[in-house]
Amino acid sequence: MGTVRAALCDGLISHTATLAGGTCQYYEAMLIDLHTHSSVSDGTEPPAQVMAQAKAAGLDVVALTDHDTTDGWAEASTAASQLGLTLVRGMELSTRMNGITVHLLSYSHDPSYQPLLDMLGRIHAARYERVRAMTERLAKDYPITLEQVVARVPSGKAIGRPHIADQLVALGVVEDRAAAFAGPLHPRGQYYVRYWSVETPDAVQLVRRAGGVPVFAHPGATGRQRVVDDSAIVRMCQAGLAGLEVYHRDNPPDQRARLMELAGRLNLFVTGSSDYHGAGKPNRLGENLTSETALRQIVEQGQLPLVGGLD
Ligand code: AMP
Ligand code: FE
Ligand code: FE
Ligand code: ZN
Repeated sequence: MGTVRAALCDGLISHTATLAGGTCQYYEAMLIDLHTHSSVSDGTEPPAQVMAQAKAAGLDVVALTDHDTTDGWAEASTAASQLGLTLVRGMELSTRMNGITVHLLSYSHDPSYQPLLDMLGRIHAARYERVRAMTERLAKDYPITLEQVVARVPSGKAIGRPHIADQLVALGVVEDRAAAFAGPLHPRGQYYVRYWSVETPDAVQLVRRAGGVPVFAHPGATGRQRVVDDSAIVRMCQAGLAGLEVYHRDNPPDQRARLMELAGRLNLFVTGSSDYHGAGKPNRLGENLTSETALRQIVEQGQLPLVGGLD
């Protein structure tokens, strides 16, 4: 009968089927977005609302990946079940390699694995101390207080520059988050302070021990700092890295080509996502997608099942 060829294009699997001499093109039906944030970290909507927006955007599968916390999982799970949406429980860890900030996605890990909780505790403390120090510097020039910033994050665990940005917006210092990041919160500015984070290969190992599936988030993102080089990705791979998030708006075309070549060479799967932050960023749900093949690898390798499962 016919032959089916599959090629990855911007996260969608495009199939060309030749059936009885005719050719037709079709796209796989499952829409999968594996990277979103809620107000539990630096998104602007509670987890249930992120799920409702994902449903409204027509997604079949969505991952909630708040920064350095899984506190949104319970609410997201209940909402996803009610909506008939499949949820991947994830997290985006703040790590560092060769002095560069590296965001590492962890999917389907055991959230009660104590060594991981210990590391998260260190990150939360470092994040708080860093926001305190940055606010202190900013307070010399702007009427901003630590209390105002802290009040913007209910749990406080993943407090960061986005929350300082929101307070600067509320004070009328800048128009929006983007302006705050381009201005007073810029890493090369006078108010910037770094915070401690774990080395990426150690985090990759920890995620694996917790039963999670580690994926390098937006590995070709240029805007902010230097890009992590190939040898660093090889080291992450040796530590147990599972995939690269290639289809992400922060990875420019030349980086995507480089990452696809690397993924093929290192046998890493490829994902795509929006990195939705509600009103905190222009990123639209479903603007980049992940293939069902990659999702199935996450299901096979991860300790936790998907909420809602896969048909
Ligand atoms: P931090 O970890 O506190 O240094 O802050 C980094 C976070 O700020 C990331 O999680 C991004 O989601 C967010 N971020 C970075 N740049 C921007 C931007 N231009 N606009 C809005 N949010 C941003
Ligand atoms: Fe963020
Ligand atoms: Fe990120
Ligand atoms: Zn993110």
